Amino acid sequence: MDNCIFCKIIDQEIPSHKVYEDEKVYAFLDISQVTKGHTLVIPKKHVSDVFEYDEDLAAEVFTRIPKIARALEAAFPEMQGLNILNNNKEMAYQTVFHSHVHLLPRYSKEDDFSIHFGHHMEDYTADQLAEIAKQIEMQVKK
Ligand code: AMP
Ligand code: ZN
Repeated sequence: MDNCIFCKIIDQEIPSHKVYEDEKVYAFLDISQVTKGHTLVIPKKHVSDVFEYDEDLAAEVFTRIPKIARALEAAFPEMQGLNILNNNKEMAYQTVFHSHVHLLPRYSKEDDFSIHFGHHMEDYTADQLAEIAKQIEMQVKK
């Protein structure tokens, strides 16, 4: 797609530090290196976000993730964990609108990555949760 920075990276019009490539997927170091080895995995096909994936594309991208995760672990034995993150739309911190999955190796609790899960279980009754689940379940397309 014209004017997409990640399509340009795939086409080698913009340099990147590649860590993996095959016919469907390209993976390269995130320029921000939140932690050492911070990697982005992208489909070669331009899609903006997860809402545009069909099942084949999802399989193509997500089947590659464990192999790249294991490569990070093998490359950096001091790695203690890995966060896998996929931001979708501006509200959810997406800034580049060619879908990408972040692999963020974790070495220490004092590193520069954080994620906060607020705990709101007291805010919902069991009936409300059942209603919320039903609203979603009814929309899942088979
Ligand atoms: P997000 O906020 O989830 O959309 O993440 C976009 C990511 O792309 C950020 O972490 C940026 O550091 C990264 N990024 C932007 N431009 C480049 C580039 N030219 N090479 C590598 N990573 C990039
Ligand atoms: Zn693109």
